[in-house]
Amino acid sequence: MQYVSTRDARPRPERVEFADVLLRGLAPDGGLYVPNQWPSLSPAEWRGLRGRPYEEVAVRLVAPFLGDFVPPARLREIVADAYAGFDDPRVATLRELASGLWLLELFHGPTLAFKDYALQLVGRLFDEALAQRGGRVTIIGATSGDTGSAAIEATRDRATADIFMLYPDGRISEVQRRQMTTVPSANVHALAVQGSFDDCQDLVKAMFADAPFRAAHNLSAVNSINWARIVAQTVYYAYAALMLGAPDKKISFAVPTGNFGNVYAAHVARQMGLPIGDLVIATNRNDILARFFGGQGMSLRTVEPSLSPSMDIQVSSNFERLFFDLRRRDGKSVAEAMTRFRGAGTLPATDAELAEARQLFSAYSFDDDATLAEIERTWRERGVMLDPHSAVGVAAARAHLAKGDAAPMVSLATAHPAKFPDAIERAIGRRPEPPPRLAAAMTRPERLVRVPNKLKDVEDYIAGHARPMREAAA
Ligand SMILES: *Cc1c(COP(=O)(O)O)cnc(C)c1O
Repeated sequence: MQYVSTRDARPRPERVEFADVLLRGLAPDGGLYVPNQWPSLSPAEWRGLRGRPYEEVAVRLVAPFLGDFVPPARLREIVADAYAGFDDPRVATLRELASGLWLLELFHGPTLAFKDYALQLVGRLFDEALAQRGGRVTIIGATSGDTGSAAIEATRDRATADIFMLYPDGRISEVQRRQMTTVPSANVHALAVQGSFDDCQDLVKAMFADAPFRAAHNLSAVNSINWARIVAQTVYYAYAALMLGAPDKKISFAVPTGNFGNVYAAHVARQMGLPIGDLVIATNRNDILARFFGGQGMSLRTVEPSLSPSMDIQVSSNFERLFFDLRRRDGKSVAEAMTRFRGAGTLPATDAELAEARQLFSAYSFDDDATLAEIERTWRERGVMLDPHSAVGVAAARAHLAKGDAAPMVSLATAHPAKFPDAIERAIGRRPEPPPRLAAAMTRPERLVRVPNKLKDVEDYIAGHARPMREAAA
């Protein structure tokens, strides 16, 4: 298996191995890596995975994307270790919400959001790659929500990495802050920046653009454009679909999304031969994807805060991977289109491309009132608490089911309700019980450093606290 960049404009695009795709994240030309072919499983192979443990499904689906990165026995160990700390031995669990409507609970990992499913595995793959190459990395990231804690949990105590997570001081929830600041590991650093989330992101970009700094500390990023995260996310789609009768039955999915990462992973599972019915995109008021798939083209607006902050996104980075296929894998044309999108704010997609995209996905958006109403309804009818992101998903699933024959439909629960107690209280007048993991974060002492919104100060802090590099990794 080899990879190409979505923006490689050369007549013969560079072919890249998995280890480089993993460690680089973004391609040097600014594009995203995609495999040059889709591995696929026959119906008999899918059937053979039915009823098998999550880890076994994961090994089968992830292995073809890795090439000869690790031998099969080593991959089995890595996968087993990645999911050993989840609080349910089934790793991901299904619950029936209504006739033909299921909830897939993806909050059994250490930080209670679905990002653990990918990052727990990707952190270990990073470790493996760096052990093979004998290097160390300094991971930097900006977070406004769940990515920070999931990345920290995946990196803590690793000999091969230090992690510095920037967040806007005073602008994230207490639960989210505590999940980052109460991790007692020497290689974990939470930096409270005196500024907004955009300031944090700009600082991260500026550090990557500072070539000497980047090289001195072997900077690496954790964000949702890393291909390895997408691969890890295909697993729970297959696992859930098999439980409900795939491959002998088509299963539909509703996915709360912002960056298009999670729902794109479902598309990849479909490309691998998993019989998926409809793929339903669920967005909040930041509805760029719903407008695009609704037929209105893709145009940027400003981000507005909502009750589901992890989906408060306007530029859905992973969409570029789908667009690459819609453009018949023409990297030059994609690079030009993305430049125009960033400049003019409108993606130059043709009618034919739009029509093809609409065959693949349906999309809905719901505002905060609709989100609260869905939390209340599901609580009243089923006694199940949905976090605001998951509620947007269930609302979209219901809207889509009402239109036709998409059942059985699985809606993804992407976070535990206890991460968003204020929204739950507004909807149903009571607060969720914090699970034991969260209770620990709410009582342990916090460790953080406040830094000004100045590149020099942030770089000085990192230079003073990152462990020295031995030799650069790739
Ligand atoms: C990150 C996140 C999402 C959105 O995921 P995408 O990668 O944008 O698809 C949805 N819900 C929760 C709880 C999240 O943390």
